Amino acid sequence: MNINMARKVLDTIKKYNRIIIFRHFRPDGDAIGSTKGLQRILQLSFPEKEVVLQNCDFSDYLSFLGGEDPLYDDKFYSEALGIVIDTATTARISNQRFSLCKEIIKIDHHIDVEAYGDINWVEDERSSSCELITAFYSVMSDELKIDTVAATYLYTGLVTDSGRFRFRSVSGETMRLAGLLLDQGIDTDVLYAHLYMKDFEEFKFEGYVLNSIKITENGVAHIYIDKATMAKFGLSFEKACACVSYMDSIKNSLIWIAFVDADNGDEIRVRIRSRFVTVNALAEKYNGGGHACACGATVHSFEQMNELISNADQLLGEYKNTNEGWL
Ligand code: AMP
Repeated sequence: MNINMARKVLDTIKKYNRIIIFRHFRPDGDAIGSTKGLQRILQLSFPEKEVVLQNCDFSDYLSFLGGEDPLYDDKFYSEALGIVIDTATTARISNQRFSLCKEIIKIDHHIDVEAYGDINWVEDERSSSCELITAFYSVMSDELKIDTVAATYLYTGLVTDSGRFRFRSVSGETMRLAGLLLDQGIDTDVLYAHLYMKDFEEFKFEGYVLNSIKITENGVAHIYIDKATMAKFGLSFEKACACVSYMDSIKNSLIWIAFVDADNGDEIRVRIRSRFVTVNALAEKYNGGGHACACGATVHSFEQMNELISNADQLLGEYKNTNEGWL
């Protein structure tokens, strides 16, 4: 834990009357949880300050956590401190007007590829940005307040970004901070019901995906979901993208990839996941990035899609030939 950085961030927050919090577009549980969690902590701790979330897209799946603030005009931004959480690069920030803020703090747990803040606090060994925000609260708890609502937001990101505490990014510290949040009285029955209950249509889609997965010679599992399939199962793009997780436990398949048609012209969203093998360099070749074993990317044609699959296959082949201990 970088205590000097936590001190610097809190001192900077204290200087401003207005704080605007941003995240990446296509938000997941960690992006929503960390931004809403920090907003709530700051509102409880400094009721005289104006603390708002200014983002341009939303997530249906996470709507149970509540909405965000309406968008203000440019003038509102100029005297504010901007805090951008969980977002590695400026291109991925949901609201590009973040740059109008007087000062910017970046807080993130992704591999640091762009230090766009005036202050950059990146701890890429953290399992989630929610873990980092919880650690921030924990070391500054004499000056900050938390409650059940804030803890529920943060716990959501801790659970979702760690694959329910299974990923190797989970440390003893993750669990201690999860304990701190649980001590606030989170209703985990309700939270898990929101996160994990599926519509019947999604189960049928899961069955379709399980029957349609393809596997390359070296064990890369992949699936392509087109718009017609999404329409057939009555699925939003967001729900269709969840299919990457259906492929996560096939023996010998250490890399698995979902390709999903996006709304923007010829864009196909790519979600890459892996066990043991590092895939972020592969994602970076295709306008993407992320973590060692969980990345996003974009391709624009079947040709690029097939090229990505064969690059992944080669990467996995090399990994298997030069490493031991994988299953
Ligand atoms: P996804 O499959 O989109 O959920 O992405 C997996 C992880 O990689 C998440 O932590 C994303 O925030 C991150 N990610 C996705 N796309 C990109 C990108 N283009 N650049 C950097 N990080 C990304």
